[in-house]
Amino acid sequence: MTRRSRTRAWLGAVVATAMSLVLAPGVAQADSAGDRCPGGYVALTFDDGPTEATPQVLKALRDAGSVRATFFLAGGMVHAHPEHTRSIAADRHEIANHSYSHPDLNTLTPDAAFKELRDASRAIKAETGQAPTLFRPPYGSTNPRIRLDVARLGMLEVLWTVDSLDWRGIPTDEIVANALRVRAGGIVLLHEGPPATIAAIPKIVEGLAERGMCAGKVVFSAKPVQAWPGMTYHAKAAPW
Ligand SMILES: [Zn+2]
Repeated sequence: MTRRSRTRAWLGAVVATAMSLVLAPGVAQADSAGDRCPGGYVALTFDDGPTEATPQVLKALRDAGSVRATFFLAGGMVHAHPEHTRSIAADRHEIANHSYSHPDLNTLTPDAAFKELRDASRAIKAETGQAPTLFRPPYGSTNPRIRLDVARLGMLEVLWTVDSLDWRGIPTDEIVANALRVRAGGIVLLHEGPPATIAAIPKIVEGLAERGMCAGKVVFSAKPVQAWPGMTYHAKAAPW
């Protein structure tokens, strides 16, 4: 081998290694995502934050493999815990609107209900720089006029396909069992506060993995999805 051909061979090896380093992560990720998530995607959603428990929820999601979720935040809580709001954004979770003061919107005047939505979006934008594009009505209490407000503010109304019932103060194992009833494309309702929910996070993620499912983000669904009898919405889970 001449010196020149040796140099060329060495250069070729260096270029090949560099190219594989550049290309491999993306290619490997696409392949492994297909392998890892043959069961499809589900969205894990956490309501009613930010709270004192936000750092623990974020840690549990990080420890479970940097799982990403959607946080439906109340505007008043965003004002009370601006630093936690920014931490949620820093961990690349989706931040969504859950009204300003968590009322039953059906009991408010049209103006007051609109203000609840608008003020929460303003609070979130002030902290994160981005207006939310998803909205969940407190208690799932909505009506066609509220849906119009949601659309006017550039958001999509999101209910859920599975209620973990963690708000009832049930034990971790029951929260996990309820959450794992979710099917591909479904949306799981969880809450930020309960310690049992935080303990449930790694088990839910593990259970999803056993079913070949992965946590995804919430996107628009042209097909209506039933939340409960007589109530539909247009959202589903998809890859981040
Ligand atoms: Zn709520």
